[in-house]
Amino acid sequence: MIETVTGLPALRARVSAWKREGLRVGLVPTMGNLHAGHFSLVKLAREHADRVVASVFVNPTQFGPNEDFDRYPRTPEADAAGLEAAGCDLVWLPSVEQMYPFGADNAVRMRVPGITDVLDGAHRPGHFDGVVTVVSRLFNQVLPDVAAFGRKDYQQLAVIRYFVRDLAFPVELLPADIVREADGLALSSRNQYLSAEERVVAPTIHRTLLAMRESAQAGTPRAGVEAQARAMLEGAGFVVDYAVVRDRQLAEPEDSRGDRVALIAARLGATRLIDNLEFTL
Ligand code: AMP
Repeated sequence: MIETVTGLPALRARVSAWKREGLRVGLVPTMGNLHAGHFSLVKLAREHADRVVASVFVNPTQFGPNEDFDRYPRTPEADAAGLEAAGCDLVWLPSVEQMYPFGADNAVRMRVPGITDVLDGAHRPGHFDGVVTVVSRLFNQVLPDVAAFGRKDYQQLAVIRYFVRDLAFPVELLPADIVREADGLALSSRNQYLSAEERVVAPTIHRTLLAMRESAQAGTPRAGVEAQARAMLEGAGFVVDYAVVRDRQLAEPEDSRGDRVALIAARLGATRLIDNLEFTL
């Protein structure tokens, strides 16, 4: 059975023993309730490291006051079994007290400027501050050589790239492709909040991303692409936070050609889903 550690001294002892052997250590940060998307990150980390640690921590500092922190699904036994099958070596399962020894409200907070002002940063104030606050701690706890993050959370990956570079963390980032259901819905722990009826509608997000790419590549101006996308999502019953085309740094593109990413955040009932699609014009 895969080893699960809940205390920082035990974690440090395991990792430093590996490092003494000259082994490379990979980290996969998660909030648990793991699915094939998470397991693909473990496999990717495995390809670049000799030992892989997955952290499972539902991080209170990245949830807003009216978000789903309390009801976020927690399934530690199933997570451990899945991680073992995926080739993970150790589960780091810290308590809130281990992660935030002075309490979450008294934690040293990190903030990445600029890129966190838009999209999810604008719709979820403080969310990315919480993400970098916990990821920097995870890096200091595990001291990984590499760390895997999914492209599903496109802006999160950009924010983490920024702080790793700015603070000179000696960690190589491994971006992982989005894992989807057969009907295109990106795997997410939040998909299980969907009712049967909502689950049928949810793949509209991916269909809309494909339509945005097609329309942009056919020469439709960006404003038109975004308006069509919003109409498609609203027609299916979503409340749209954003449906936009940006350059790969998430700025509004100025040239007519170049690398792009279409990004959607939309709510179906009480469930907020995000997805994106990279393409080139
Ligand atoms: P979470 O547990 O939702 O915080 O996600 C942990 C990591 O898994 C993040 O780096 C996510 O981007 C990544 N991830 C979540 N869902 C997917 C997916 N469907 N495909 C690829 N990576 C994912």
